[in-house]
Amino acid sequence: MEEFLFPLAKMTVSGYNDGWPDWQPFDNPAKSARSMEAITALTTTYPFTFDPAAPFLDQASDWIADVFYDILPEAGFETRDEQIFMAFQLERAYKEKKTIFAEAGVGTGKTLVYLLYASLYARYTRKPAVIACADESLIEQLVKPEGDIAKIARHLDLNIDVRLGKSQDQYLCLNKLEEVRGPGSENEVFQNIYEELPPFVHFPDTLQSFYPYGSRKDYPELDDKQWDQVGWDVFQDCLICPRRHRCGQTLSRDHYRKATDLIVCSHDFYMEHVWTYEARKREGQLPLLPEHSSVVFDEGHLLETAAQSALTYKLKHSAFESIVTRLLEGEVRESLALAVENAIERSDDLFELIHRYSTPVPASQRNELELSAELMKGVNAFRAAVDAIEEEIVFESGMFSLDEYQLRIVEEHLEMMQTALALFANPRELICWTQDDQGDMTLVLMPKKVKEILNERVFSKKMPIIFSSATLSADESFDYIADSLGVSDYQSFSVASPYDYEESMKASLSTESSVAVKADHVLRALERREGGMLLLFPSRESMEAFRFEADSRLEFSDFPMLYEGDAEISRLISEFQNGKLVNLCAVTLWEGLDVPGDSLNHVVIWELPFPPNDPVFAAKRRESADPFGEVDMPYMLLRLRQGIGRLIRTSGDTGRVDIFGEAFNQQDVRERVGSLLPASAAKENK
Ligand code: SF4
Repeated sequence: MEEFLFPLAKMTVSGYNDGWPDWQPFDNPAKSARSMEAITALTTTYPFTFDPAAPFLDQASDWIADVFYDILPEAGFETRDEQIFMAFQLERAYKEKKTIFAEAGVGTGKTLVYLLYASLYARYTRKPAVIACADESLIEQLVKPEGDIAKIARHLDLNIDVRLGKSQDQYLCLNKLEEVRGPGSENEVFQNIYEELPPFVHFPDTLQSFYPYGSRKDYPELDDKQWDQVGWDVFQDCLICPRRHRCGQTLSRDHYRKATDLIVCSHDFYMEHVWTYEARKREGQLPLLPEHSSVVFDEGHLLETAAQSALTYKLKHSAFESIVTRLLEGEVRESLALAVENAIERSDDLFELIHRYSTPVPASQRNELELSAELMKGVNAFRAAVDAIEEEIVFESGMFSLDEYQLRIVEEHLEMMQTALALFANPRELICWTQDDQGDMTLVLMPKKVKEILNERVFSKKMPIIFSSATLSADESFDYIADSLGVSDYQSFSVASPYDYEESMKASLSTESSVAVKADHVLRALERREGGMLLLFPSRESMEAFRFEADSRLEFSDFPMLYEGDAEISRLISEFQNGKLVNLCAVTLWEGLDVPGDSLNHVVIWELPFPPNDPVFAAKRRESADPFGEVDMPYMLLRLRQGIGRLIRTSGDTGRVDIFGEAFNQQDVRERVGSLLPASAAKENK
């Protein structure tokens, strides 16, 4: 189909609503009553002179070609064939409003290409584009002063309106802060946060302008444990919170909704938007994200995990009790009161059973849950008790004895719980585990298959969707990722990194597993180079084991080590990048970390990153005829490729990668990992 022509005409027809794209473009700009006025407005919106009589994307692509052939080279940047090739591919995806898997190696400059298309298209359609990054630290990487968005503003004279839509757990919860603040050494830090809140939080009645505040990044000095005490969590009920209108999370949401060009969020947040879209509309709330013109999934190979965790249900006895007791606040009939009381007792019984049948999994915060006959009986009893409340509510609501708004919220919660508990009816389709949430046992339920829902709610929409990553294909095919996400119709391309890894990278493989011996190796390397080492750990436990070893040896005190979790992550990255002779230990920075130059000259892979033995992977393994070959090995290789990719970020970078793994004793592992490394590196270890 030929590209549409005139976005303002569309706005006259269907108006602006908050949701998915639902409009059909006009094929003749003259049909718009506001055409001349609109044309004038649009010609000043783009970095080129827009001719409304010609297809927009052709003109945008011509300008983007000028950017890569002329404008950037004139500003001192090299012309990259890979970028031009990628621009051509994205033009096609935008024109046809298709999903595209854009696999481009390190150094191809893929971010710049998708940012240009996404922003121009956003202006044309008058709807922002969403850039979804794999996690919160990658969001910060994208918007950092030396990142690509800043580069566009500097060299292309194109100021992009970009706003961050962070996940809920990235915001301070005023209710939780209230509980922990107070004088005394432990709580002093929270008291200080409280005192430094914007004035409108403390004095809500005075006339003053509200502004966003309270993001995790605003409190870099808090470690992760402290943040857990004050950051939003899934058991906070914002809908009925009296502090809602002064809460940083609410104000930030209002702020990013008004973005004209880009909203940058995490995969998790995007998926939460997808899953909660209908329920929020039912509750009379706006969807988490406004209507948007295109989506880019940066590090798109990680989307399946985000989709699964967004579809996860978390249940806790105390949360259930606090929600249903709200029903007793009005003058209700005795039968409803009894149903509530009974359901609370059944919930208590069920969580006792859950506790009994939970077994800790080593190196994981998840406990395995045995679905014993006794436990299933407890689930059914609880489900029946919730059913009984729902039936009673139907009678009660006709009598108007309950606050209607409260009632709707309780009903939504009960419905969510029933959907979650219904998953037990088909245990083969369920992944479940328990975990400790600040002292409370939490039951976590996740449906195995997310692809049908993704297909229906995301990929069947007529909208450009870009997957960008250096690692999307397996054995030169995109079928694996397409199938796991439910993408049935897609375009794809693959371009390799332009860097000469033979020249720039040295590598070693070792079967060593002793923490002390590996720490010796790290120490010797530090003595040679002193700083610029990134140590990547497959789990928090393994990082703590190294830390314990390093802290117990005096020699390590000469070398500054930063540990993920000790402060807000983008602060740690900035210290690592800008500090002299600093080293960084991390668990989640296998992807996306972009530190060019000597600040990162050595990557140590502490252990081959095989997936943990937790219930999610246990379920995947159970379903596979060859669990090691189809689940463990591909996961490990993909993550390892990403980890190694942190080293060489520009054509001038050099450095080394040292990889530890007992599994190198297996020839196939050694060969597969060797194939990811320069031939000279593989030889060095034969
Ligand atoms: S609106 Fe939500 S996050 Fe904000 S204070 Fe209330 S419960 Fe906490």
